Amino acid sequence: MAAKYSSDVIIVGGGLAGLAAADDLIGFGKEVLVLERDLPENVGGLARKSFGGLMFVGSPEQRRFRITDSPELAWSDWQSYAEFEDDDVLPREWAKVYVENSIEFIYDWLKRKKVSFLPITNWTEHGFDRRGNSVPRWHITWGTGYAIVEAVLKSLFDHPARKNLQILFSHRGEEPDEQGGHIVGVAGHREDTGEEFTAHAGAIVLASGGICGGDLSKVRRYWNKELGSRPSVLLNGSHRYADGLMLDTVSRHGGKLTHLDQHWHYAAGIYHPVPKQDNDGLSLVPPRSALWLAACGRRFAPIPLVSYTDTKYLVELICKSPGQYSWQVLNWKIAIRELAVSGSDYMTAIRNKQRLRFLRELLMGNKILVNRLMKESEDFVSAGSLSELAGKMDELSQPGFKIDREGFLKDVRDYDAQVAAGIEHFRDEQLLMIANFRKYRGDRIRLCKYQRIDDPKAYPLIAIREFILSRKSLGGIQTDMKSRVLSDTGSDLPGLYAIGEAAGFGGGGIHGKRSLEGTFLGSCILTGRVAAEAIAKG
Ligand SMILES: Cc1cc2nc3c(=O)[nH]c(=O)nc-3n(C[C@H](O)[C@H](O)[C@H](O)COP(=O)(O)OP(=O)(O)OC[C@H]3O[C@@H](n4cnc5c(N)ncnc54)[C@H](O)[C@@H]3O)c2cc1C
Repeated sequence: MAAKYSSDVIIVGGGLAGLAAADDLIGFGKEVLVLERDLPENVGGLARKSFGGLMFVGSPEQRRFRITDSPELAWSDWQSYAEFEDDDVLPREWAKVYVENSIEFIYDWLKRKKVSFLPITNWTEHGFDRRGNSVPRWHITWGTGYAIVEAVLKSLFDHPARKNLQILFSHRGEEPDEQGGHIVGVAGHREDTGEEFTAHAGAIVLASGGICGGDLSKVRRYWNKELGSRPSVLLNGSHRYADGLMLDTVSRHGGKLTHLDQHWHYAAGIYHPVPKQDNDGLSLVPPRSALWLAACGRRFAPIPLVSYTDTKYLVELICKSPGQYSWQVLNWKIAIRELAVSGSDYMTAIRNKQRLRFLRELLMGNKILVNRLMKESEDFVSAGSLSELAGKMDELSQPGFKIDREGFLKDVRDYDAQVAAGIEHFRDEQLLMIANFRKYRGDRIRLCKYQRIDDPKAYPLIAIREFILSRKSLGGIQTDMKSRVLSDTGSDLPGLYAIGEAAGFGGGGIHGKRSLEGTFLGSCILTGRVAAEAIAKG
């Protein structure tokens, strides 16, 4: 006999979007049942693993750092970066709601849950051939994304209406139940026992995440041709249940899926030292003072690759280069000051809220992280000379590729000669970019002051082999401004809502082609809260 459940609202997926919706819904007096495929220790989905960087516009942290921002400026940046198509009406509207309400809907909501942010706002995605963030907007959560999830869970479990919330783990939602044109429930199976279940409610909210995890087959199927061809090695930076199962079934029930070919991949992925799934990857935040080299060991030309510019452009250039992977060449001094990992598991001082250690690492460098990566990662090699380094890179090169020794030595020496010549003689685009980055106080503290690569005082030399890493789906289920799922004809599917990554973070693709960063977690909260209000107020 299949188990039967009922509630006012059923949420399929207990990631940040699902939990945010649940929190507001029980506040509105609704009974909520969350169906989550995963185990209790993974509740919170990707947010639990995330860095916890959020985009806010006009925050107290920005003001304290004398950063002048406004919804108008952010809206202009977002449109420039997104390259929305003419018919992206709903994605555009959602984006506008984000920039106009990021403080009230997201920042204040998190603050009420005692979430706090580092005092220095980061300046991500400056843009490359189109404008990205005109000002710093990326607020890192003290405690990383892990702290966000813990704060939302605490809010749920301490809530006076706690009894109205039930979370069932190992429950995989599969098929919406449609009766008389209304979605009234969802059927599925338990992951652990295989038993069948059905669940019924007045409203069903899909919060099951994107398609950029699972076995990556959907990422390959919907590969964006603008990026060039699919790389032969593609690392998985998402989770095993981000397989788009619910998107497929919603589409069978007439729900519209849009922008499935828009993904947010990262250019500096390494194999996860402790893999939990096939091709599991870690995304590095690449040092800007490192040289970014193609598979052959030469710098990308005519413009060198530098992170914090335009992630889509970095990915595209690497996908279009022979080998479709890259190297970063640096030294110990650069690594301890500039290298970071995007994720809670490796940024342990922030994750564990160790204030003194964090300050020490900011001032003296993060030796613990670099030592750990050098010890654990198969993609790191180190050496005491450039020719020894090139030899070790050769051993790690993909079949059919070798380091062009002469070219490699020339590129490093040319760069180092420019550094030695001094700032007034810089012609190298990377050095000019670094000089520009260093004008911002928040970047100066995280950047070396024009550091040579082949500098014995900064040894050992380090090379990192990097692959494209798949992380987030920018498209998904099309929703209206109340998070209701829309059909191909534009009418809503009564009773059905979609939020977070499942809904392309709002409207089926709030980001267009690019994200200004920190907009993923933020949009999960925004879309989850909008759905909760729409359901509660009818
Ligand atoms: C390492 C890392 C770092 C990141 N850093 C940042 C950052 O700094 N800033 C930022 O904005 N974003 C960041 N992100 C992205 C962000 O974390 C995600 O986009 C966001 O958390 C997605 O939330 P979600 O609730 O929509 O989906 P998910 O987190 O994917 O949650 C979906 C949940 O649904 C469950 N599920 C799936 N299918 C079913 C089903 N059929 N039935 C029942 N349950 C199901 C899953 O198990 C999962 O728990 C990062 C992501 C990662 C992995």
